[in-house]
Amino acid sequence: MTYKSVKGTRDLLPVDTTAWLHVEQLIREVMERFRYGEIRTPVFEETTVFARGIGEETDIVGKEMYSFLDKGGSSLTLRPEMTAPVIRSFIQHNLGEQSGLNKLYYIGPMFRQERPQAGRFRQFHQFGFECIGQDSPFCDAEIIAMAAEIYRRLGIHSTLKINSVGDPFCRPRYREALQSFLRPLLAELSEESRRRTETNPMRVLDSKDPRDRELTANAPVILDYLTDESREHFEQTLALLDDLGISYDIDPRLVRGLDYYTRTAFEFISSDLGSQDALGGGGRYDGLVQELGGKATPAVGFAAGIERLLIVLEKNGYAFPVSEPLVYLIGMDDASRTWAFRTAMTLRRIGVSAEIDYAGRSVKAQMREANKLGSTFVVLVGESEMQAQVAQVKNMRVGTQEGVEFQHLTSYFSRMNHLTDNTESR
Ligand code: AMP
Repeated sequence: MTYKSVKGTRDLLPVDTTAWLHVEQLIREVMERFRYGEIRTPVFEETTVFARGIGEETDIVGKEMYSFLDKGGSSLTLRPEMTAPVIRSFIQHNLGEQSGLNKLYYIGPMFRQERPQAGRFRQFHQFGFECIGQDSPFCDAEIIAMAAEIYRRLGIHSTLKINSVGDPFCRPRYREALQSFLRPLLAELSEESRRRTETNPMRVLDSKDPRDRELTANAPVILDYLTDESREHFEQTLALLDDLGISYDIDPRLVRGLDYYTRTAFEFISSDLGSQDALGGGGRYDGLVQELGGKATPAVGFAAGIERLLIVLEKNGYAFPVSEPLVYLIGMDDASRTWAFRTAMTLRRIGVSAEIDYAGRSVKAQMREANKLGSTFVVLVGESEMQAQVAQVKNMRVGTQEGVEFQHLTSYFSRMNHLTDNTESR
């Protein structure tokens, strides 16, 4: 019997995590600049947090959640997204009372039982940010600008699509107009769109079915139904994006899959991805805090997939930073092996990566290993070096070798970045 990771999930091995850590570090740096604080919530919640928060009629809640009964009979769900848990936590800890504006970000795994394909997994990772407490278009524009900044710093070209999905005052009128348009077409629409015409007609515009898209090409669009307040909010958001030089395409059919959006909805897409071309998306969700039992609080947020971002970076041949310089210490006999073991510890303590042989291998085999690991320096010590208290230090980049007294080794290597400046492509 051999075991494998569950379908749609992956192991990230050290060869993979170097890129992940780099991307995560960059995200944290950008978040720090915008003064967003990290929030970490449990990976599972009571099912109702998502059912109420995301909406019963959405694909996520309807088909994709990993829900289970625990031994106490409670229905729990592995989080398929983070906005609902963040808002649950925001309400639970009265964050709104402590501050008029809460700026939160997260990075972590999400779980959806979708059909796995390129760029689509059952455990995937998102980073995202939520700005809770203000309905100012500055918040909408800043959230979009933060996402754009992360993609800019990684050299990723993306297209920003944006729309306003209105508010509770304009939606009913639009919904009626859209249903009146759709009902005569029912017989021709796909089964899913037929159902959605009654339950969630705006999602019909989102259908991937080519026939549905053809039939709805002239459907009324929400932008013609916006209240004055929502229109002004949308126009101000766009003006702020113009001011920042962030280009966008207005897409009146963009509704996004989650029910909680109001006003601004947006998505970043990349032509470097296949059919799953969404890098990330978000929008304003002014009704969600109240929906989950808190005081009415406006908010806007964004979430993006890390796997898809890495797919694009790899396609672009993004230059991930090379690993730290490494010192490999070779002991030629028992006494010098113990010295190498001890000296490796000392070097690690002063901030230098050090490696030794653990298998009692020959000097030749150790040398081969040092090469394989891409060591920057090799330190050779045998009986005569132990006696003289002088190690032979080989610079593997330039091929030179010199004797360095034991007592000067730490200062020699603490200057290592300086020593390798000319030879490392860092
Ligand atoms: P959503 O919460 O559906 O708006 O998703 C936000 C982003 O998360 C998407 O744009 C994708 O980049 C990513 N994402 C969503 N679902 C998956 C999945 N099953 N596998 C990988 N990435 C995903």
